[in-house]
Amino acid sequence: MPKLFGSSGARGLVNAELTPILAAKVGLAVATFSKAEKVLVAWDTRVSGPMLEHALVSGLLAGGANAYCLGVVPTPVLAFLTMRLKADAGLMITASHNPPQYNGIKIFNSQGLAYDDESQIKIEEIIEKRSLRLADWRVVGEASSLDKSQLYAEMIKKTVKLRKKRRIIVDPGCGATFSLAPAILENIGCEVIAINAQPDGFFPARSSEPNAESLKDLAKIVQELGADAGVAYDGDGDRAAFIDEKGNFADFDRALAAYSAYIVKRNGGGTVVTNVEASMCIEKVVNALGGKVVRTKVGDVYVAEAIKQRNAVFGGEPCGAWIHPQLHCCPDGILSSALLLKALEEENKGLFDFIAEIPLYTTLRRNIACKNNMKYKVIEKIGKSVKSEFPAHAEVSTVDGVRMSFEGGWILFRASGTEPLIRLTVEGESLKAAKEIMKKGIVLVKKSVEEMRK
Ligand code: MG
Repeated sequence: MPKLFGSSGARGLVNAELTPILAAKVGLAVATFSKAEKVLVAWDTRVSGPMLEHALVSGLLAGGANAYCLGVVPTPVLAFLTMRLKADAGLMITASHNPPQYNGIKIFNSQGLAYDDESQIKIEEIIEKRSLRLADWRVVGEASSLDKSQLYAEMIKKTVKLRKKRRIIVDPGCGATFSLAPAILENIGCEVIAINAQPDGFFPARSSEPNAESLKDLAKIVQELGADAGVAYDGDGDRAAFIDEKGNFADFDRALAAYSAYIVKRNGGGTVVTNVEASMCIEKVVNALGGKVVRTKVGDVYVAEAIKQRNAVFGGEPCGAWIHPQLHCCPDGILSSALLLKALEEENKGLFDFIAEIPLYTTLRRNIACKNNMKYKVIEKIGKSVKSEFPAHAEVSTVDGVRMSFEGGWILFRASGTEPLIRLTVEGESLKAAKEIMKKGIVLVKKSVEEMRK
């Protein structure tokens, strides 16, 4: 795993970890690495966005690349336009759903795909080894602004036209979707009522991470205004979360499974990609329809890569990041909400019924303390012994930690990326089944830690 970059690009506290100096180096490194002539740059509504944009652009120009500044647009819009306008790279300044004091830089290649680990490591090496290539003064790049969001809006309008007018409450949470999301949903035929639709980098209305807790107000408004659904986005608009017509938060796993089932049914089969943490309800419904589920490491970059490799029909993670590969390969909140509304219309259902068919399972989580210098070795050891410790096993995967699935559930052992912990996630068809699996998992971790100490 690269050091400067995580699975979602470089991210950190503004002016502590992520400084303009670093941003300029990233810009220059991207120009050096991709020999780019044309690079798109955008930011979400964070306060530090313009500061980092100027630094990043300065780095690009110094490397001889021309920078086209899109201003505040969602991450998927930047990714889509990078591909559509045939740019050599796209740079998004965002910390996604993180608190306002954070920011980050996510890099996209000419196909609109986020840089994979290998490319990110190369950028890092260029920065660390100071092999940044400054252009001759005669050929430094030029910066200009560019507004091509209408190409994105047209792409969605061409894909989704609703016959029935539904009342939708849209909550951009003061993030990057603040103007595009209400406009696009109205454009495809919804009656839109927007809340928290003013850009504000302090995210005063709610956390920039949409979840059941942060969307309580939205749920109440959906109920009080008798709306058909509520939709909310994270800070940079690659995630969407939904409230059904009864005012319930639509469970992420079940919504992902329900939409996967709809796509597989429409395609008469096909592969769906998700990560190792998603609920097994997705296999339950996709397999029953003749489709197949492929699981990857946690991180939308890995999901997108697997979608490309396997020619999958759909993919997503249970945080609301859904990828629609027929259009582009960046998770896209606005597109996901438009396509979900189209699915509801075609199935002639409300969101509540659309999801109600998906089985509801029990998830348990537990952290076990384990020293940083031991945690990865313990996971490796568990990977080797798990088959003999769980004789009734069905399938073992070591794509991210160790994941083992059984008839009635699964367990995932992962080392925390940041803390001295081993994280256990268990899902069972019932609470009793989940508890039994968890008990065995804890015994196995403790035994492995003991043996390592000897
Ligand atoms: Mg995001």
